[in-house]
Amino acid sequence: MITNNNGNPYPAISETECKGCQRCVIACPENCIGISSEFNDAGYQYAYYLGEGCVGCRDCYYTCPEPIAMEIHTFKRKSNPMSVLIKSKVRRQNK
Ligand code: SF4
Ligand code: SF4
Repeated sequence: MITNNNGNPYPAISETECKGCQRCVIACPENCIGISSEFNDAGYQYAYYLGEGCVGCRDCYYTCPEPIAMEIHTFKRKSNPMSVLIKSKVRRQNK
């Protein structure tokens, strides 16, 4: 499982919790989830992140039927235009 992706969003998929249903593979608009040729301890071919392309949309997360098989990790960006706009509005209201 990837634990860091250089500040880019990525799905963290648990090999042990995944049941290999492939819903996330079908749901991903960026085609960046694959199914392993190996089996986990429960006998399922588990999903894994292909390593690039994730945009953090969470479609895979919302379609996964397993409660703890998947997380989406995203990172706050200081230069995000929306956060800059919100901060400037808050500053103006507090004056
Ligand atoms: S968050 Fe979106 S782009 Fe990223 S792996 Fe999931 S479905 Fe694909
Ligand atoms: S949707 Fe969930 S259980 Fe199904 S393959 Fe993807 S991570 Fe595994």
